[in-house]
Amino acid sequence: MSEHMKELKQKLLEITNINNANAVLGWDQQVYMPKKSGLPRSMQSSTLSGMTHKMFVSEEMGTLLKKLKEDANYSKLNEDEKIIVDKTYKSYERSTRLPLEFVVSMSEASSKAFCAWEDAREKNDFQEFKPHLEKMVEFSRKMADYIGYETSPYNALLDEFEEGMTVEELNPLFEDLKSKTVPFLDAIKNSRVKTSFEIIRRHYPKQQQWDFTIDILKKMGYDFDRGRQDLSTHPFTTGFHPDDVRITTRVDENYISDAVSGTVHEGGHALYEQGLPAEFYGTPICSAVSLGVHESQSRMWENIVGRSEEFWTYFYPIAQKHFPDALKGVDMHEFLRSFNHIEPGFIRVDADEITYNLHILLRYELERDVVEGKIKVSDMRDLWNDKMKEYLGITPDNDKVGILQDVHWSSTMGYFPTYTLGNLYSAQIYHKALKDNPDMEKDFARGNFTVFLDWLRKNIHSQGSRYTPKELIKRATGEEPNAKYFINHIHDRYGKIYEIARTMGF
Ligand code: MG
Repeated sequence: MSEHMKELKQKLLEITNINNANAVLGWDQQVYMPKKSGLPRSMQSSTLSGMTHKMFVSEEMGTLLKKLKEDANYSKLNEDEKIIVDKTYKSYERSTRLPLEFVVSMSEASSKAFCAWEDAREKNDFQEFKPHLEKMVEFSRKMADYIGYETSPYNALLDEFEEGMTVEELNPLFEDLKSKTVPFLDAIKNSRVKTSFEIIRRHYPKQQQWDFTIDILKKMGYDFDRGRQDLSTHPFTTGFHPDDVRITTRVDENYISDAVSGTVHEGGHALYEQGLPAEFYGTPICSAVSLGVHESQSRMWENIVGRSEEFWTYFYPIAQKHFPDALKGVDMHEFLRSFNHIEPGFIRVDADEITYNLHILLRYELERDVVEGKIKVSDMRDLWNDKMKEYLGITPDNDKVGILQDVHWSSTMGYFPTYTLGNLYSAQIYHKALKDNPDMEKDFARGNFTVFLDWLRKNIHSQGSRYTPKELIKRATGEEPNAKYFINHIHDRYGKIYEIARTMGF
């Protein structure tokens, strides 16, 4: 390895180590930190992030990267080294394009916007958040200008979360999904089969729920010697190294889905992180490729696997042992109909597999249009409510359950579509895994997930950030990202439950 390359790897390793130490502080903040310790913690964290930012955008780093990019040096690098140099150079360029004063004032405005959002939400008043949102939209557009784009400023923002993805590609993908989902949801509403949350909203004791989630994680292949589960208000996954990946869950004694779906979702994220190529730790190769691909892993486990008959064939008898009262006399299919009950609601994070994407499409359309200057912030609330009515058939009667429900817009735009991309990728990836391993689902019914996990390890996890998300999906599945497999999955599962004939243009 060349001296320059060694130097780059050493610098990146130091930055990664500090960032991960900072991430441990972040984990502690959400899991164990006493409630009055926020101020010292934010000082400690911002010192560490300031340090790594300076190290990364330093002149030294710039000179080194430019040397490595020179033909004579670049041509001597092996494939992995080229990827490391290219990826690092791209993020270096991106970071240095944003003037420091801009970054600082945007982050200050964002802190203020966050506080205003909390207040506005409390008071149920969009007008109070509106001026802050206007500011953040302005910042987003300015950021796009600094970064640069060809067609839509939204592309510059999206690229940060899903490299290479553009509105030109998203629009037809999402339109396809919407045009199939909305009528299908209508068919469910009109179905003679009625389902309800009654069974999953019975009383499920806390400790037994916790024990059950541990049983599931172990079977999924989550390695407790390289991770742990704790409780937090909002479930999350954080990885400091493939050998240290933590997750959290939450427990509602009157709603078993929170803990089970939360754990299986975060477990999917965690398996991805535990499966990243540790030999590349410190370089961009040992990191998740994008938010969309990350979310594909969590949603594949949470929904495609975790809501399936095969999964519950194995886990239902175990659930019955943990919850003899709640599940007394309930057969598995009855339980599953309740667990997979579809009902449009106002809140995105509580949404089911079908309506979830409609929540995302609505947000995507609004943020894309406002960043592109096609709509005004002052129109967003009415548009939100109109689209809710059009896509989900319901109208929020206040902002708290409407436009003020998500924290995202107090900091940035361009993030939302990655959730739905994750859903689309998940079905496409799962379809290929099943094609390669036709007996995989029979294994699930016996509590064996190793063949599936091995496939994911080989085709997704161990690839880290070697390719762009799109290239990775294409290499793993043989096809460009598309909505077909997700639409099929939804139709197969819910067409069966709600007895909907396969004649809806799927
Ligand atoms: Mg997630």
